Order: sequence, then structure tokens, then C-alpha cells
Amino acid sequence: MKLFNTFSRSMEDFKPMDGKEVKMYCCGPTVYSYAHVGNLRAYIGQDVLKKTLLRAGFKVKHVMNVTDVGHLTSDADSGEDKMLRAAEREKKNVIDLARGYEAKFFEDEQALRITRPDIVCRATEHIPDMIAFIERLEKLGFAYKAGGNVYFDTAKYPSYGALARTDIKNLKHGSRVAEDAHKRNPTDFVLWFTTSKFENQILQWDSPWGKGYPGWHIECSVMSTKYLGERIDIHCGGIDHIPIHHENERAQSECCLGHKWVETWVHNDFLQLKDMKMSKSDGNIITIDVLKQKGYDPLAFRYLCLTAHYRSPLAFSFDILDGAQNAYDNLRARVVDLRKKDEPADPARVDKIVRRFDECLFNDVGTPQALSVMWDALKDVATSAGTKLAALQRMDEVLDLGTDTFREQRHALDAETEALIAQRALARQNKDWKKSDEIRDALLAKGIVINDLPGGKFSVEKAGN
Ligand code: AMP
Ligand code: ZN
Repeated sequence: MKLFNTFSRSMEDFKPMDGKEVKMYCCGPTVYSYAHVGNLRAYIGQDVLKKTLLRAGFKVKHVMNVTDVGHLTSDADSGEDKMLRAAEREKKNVIDLARGYEAKFFEDEQALRITRPDIVCRATEHIPDMIAFIERLEKLGFAYKAGGNVYFDTAKYPSYGALARTDIKNLKHGSRVAEDAHKRNPTDFVLWFTTSKFENQILQWDSPWGKGYPGWHIECSVMSTKYLGERIDIHCGGIDHIPIHHENERAQSECCLGHKWVETWVHNDFLQLKDMKMSKSDGNIITIDVLKQKGYDPLAFRYLCLTAHYRSPLAFSFDILDGAQNAYDNLRARVVDLRKKDEPADPARVDKIVRRFDECLFNDVGTPQALSVMWDALKDVATSAGTKLAALQRMDEVLDLGTDTFREQRHALDAETEALIAQRALARQNKDWKKSDEIRDALLAKGIVINDLPGGKFSVEKAGN
């Protein structure tokens, strides 16, 4: 399998360090608002990468953090505290706000068939680990105290800037980060805020440096080391994280651990709303709920994301999403038609299609090419319906477009009902019976009856039909 490594800016043969299990860390959401479709593009990309690695025969241990403290409106240490500002706006306490948006995030992920990471870890639940990590950095001479805060001294890490290829020597104070007179170097960053910038910061903890709270970057170094060990195979995030957040994570981790930390850095490009980047802090956000309200299937958005390579920018507009919804509906219609035909599968032919499909994915997760293989196979008049369906089933183990749930009746149902049916199927797969029953009741209230059949299958009827 080949993967593009941002660090080397080249395609590399990928193998997990221990030959078996891929240790994969992904920077998770800052839960001060709804995830927007741009954020979700990042997580769809990571989900398909993970499913591709599984297809390639590797085990994967996937860890993702949830940022519920310490992230300021600038990724460097300036601006307001994102959580605090949102809590004030919504008149909630910070933890209730964080837990609410976290739950919503996983609901959106479920609607997009993104598999929950093996470990999801919250920053606020790892404060003692962060303090220990900072103490170690301090003991090793990489941290200094100034103006009450604890800073990382980037001058002590000669490799600083190597990931983003930033010309550090020519950086002037103030050109990259807002001026902070306490910083020895413009790229230095806060590990621990003690003289809180925010008088009303509610989340504060005792520490050897006084009562305060962690800087944003430290949580990823700490939690990845705790759950994945000192070396990780793949670290993911959006390209916006390369110059500050990931550069800072690298600096802390490599200085604290004393060796290389990440083998392969994987970064997705942005989902772009017209010519702007979509950002939660700009209030310029489109969420999965907005898509549902407008009648789109969340999985049509997943489909849209797969039509572009994860390292290419992807333009977003409702016209573009209409195109993806049409293609997705077309896929559904074809699958429903194929199911009506009683034609056997040819296993050798199925293998051949799936091999071609896998080759695309094993080449830096080439989803656009993989989708072409899928469509070529579905359209091929010389291929039997049975072969097409068997190949599609295997292809969809990685794409996860929910083709196994396509049924004829779906045409007559609205997008919200469709989404509920898909969520219930997923809840049952995850053995979340409570949620599955809740969704069944919600469907019943809409006049939709679900009959469960053996083998995880089910039928859908409109009440009274
Ligand atoms: P945040 O919750 O802001 O920390 O962002 C969560 C993830 O979404 C990070 O990996 C970001 O790099 C990524 N991200 C943010 N905006 C976009 C966008 N417009 N397109 C793609 N990825 C994004
Ligand atoms: Zn991170």
C-alpha cells in the first residue's frame, strides 16, 4: 500500500512499524459548535483510510481526541477561548456545552457511516497526564516559565518547521503569531496557562505552576502517547493543522520522547465553500442537519467526498451536492434493479473487479478511481447481476455508502426517514438496542413500520399500506 507522507512530500510504501497493527491518531473536533461539512470531510477521509488499511489486511488501532478545553480562536495562543465564548453565547456551562456538541458530532458521524474510533479521549479527562508530560519537558530543558505561563522553547528543537517547511530563521516576531512579550521566539507556544488570559475561565486545575489550564496542542501529544505508545504509524488532520498544531505536537512529542514520533503524516485538503474556507468561528457553517432539512441524504455527502481525492480541494455548493445526490440515487436505483434479477455471481470475475478496485485504494486511497471501477462494473453489460452485487458488497465494505440498505420502497420516502432507517440499521449493527428501539418508535410516529427479518435484514412499510 502506498501513502503520501506530508513530511517527505512524497509517496511512500506504507507498512505499520510492527508489521501488524497500524497505530493511527486523528485530531478530533473542538466541541464548541456543530461540526460543519468541512470538518466532516476530514473525518470521512480518515474513515475511508482506516477501512482501506483493514482491507489491506492490517489491524488498526484508531484514537481520536475531543478538545473540550484550551483551544483559542487562533491556533496559536491569541484570541478568545472558543469553548468559553460559545458557553457565554449559549448561556450554558462549558462542560454541558461540550458534551452536547460531542454527542451531536457522533450522531452526524453515524449518519455518515463513519465508524467510531477505537478510543475517543477528552482533553479535560487527561489533565494529570498533561501535567506530567509538561513536567518532563521542563526537566529536559525544553520549557520555560514567563509571565506566569509555561512555554515550549522552539529554539531547542532544531527540526521545528520541518513538517510545514517554514523558514523559521526569517520569521519575525509578530509575523506569524500575535505578539506575546513573554515568548523567547515567535514560534514558541503555551503548554500551560497559569495567569489565565480569561478571568472567567471556569475550567482550571491545580498544577506545579499554579492554577490554570493546558494549551491546546499538548493534549494530542499526551493522549496519543498514552493510548498508542511512543511511536505512531499515521497521524491525520486537515492541512490547516500543518504549520502550527502539528508542528507544535511534533516538537513536544519528539523532545519529550527523545525520538521520531510519527512515521506518516496524512493531511486532507479543504472542503471549500465558494472561494472561502468553511469555518466554525466565521459562523459560515453548513451542518448535516442543514443538509437533511434541505432533503439531502447525508450519504450523498459522503459520496461527494469520495468523488475527490482527499489531498485535493473540493468545492462545495448545493448545485454540486445535487449532482452527488443524483449519482447516489442512480446507484440506489441500479442496485434495486439488480436485486430483481436472479443471476448467479461468477466468483473469479468478482475477484477481478475487487482487485482493480483495491489497487486504486492502495494507491494513496484513490477514491475517485475506485468509484470509476465501481461504476464501470455496474454498467458493464457482459457482467451478471449476481457478480455486480457481490462485487459491490465487497467494494462497499470500504466505501460504506450503505448499499446493503437500498430497497425499492426508499424512493417513496423522504430524506429524513431514509436517514432514520439507516441510523437504525447501524444502531442494530452496533447492538445499540435502546437506540434502535427509539428510532423504530420515531419512525412509527411518522407512519413507517419496520419489520426485522433474520440475518440483520428488515422490510419497511408505510402504516396502512
Ligand atoms: P476543529 O474542530 O476545528 O479542530 O477541526 C476538526 C478537523 O476538521 C481538523 O482535522 C481540521 O483540519 C478539519 N477541517 C476544518 N475545516 C475544514 C474544511 N473546510 N475542510 C476540510 N477539513 C477541515
Ligand atoms: Zn491534534
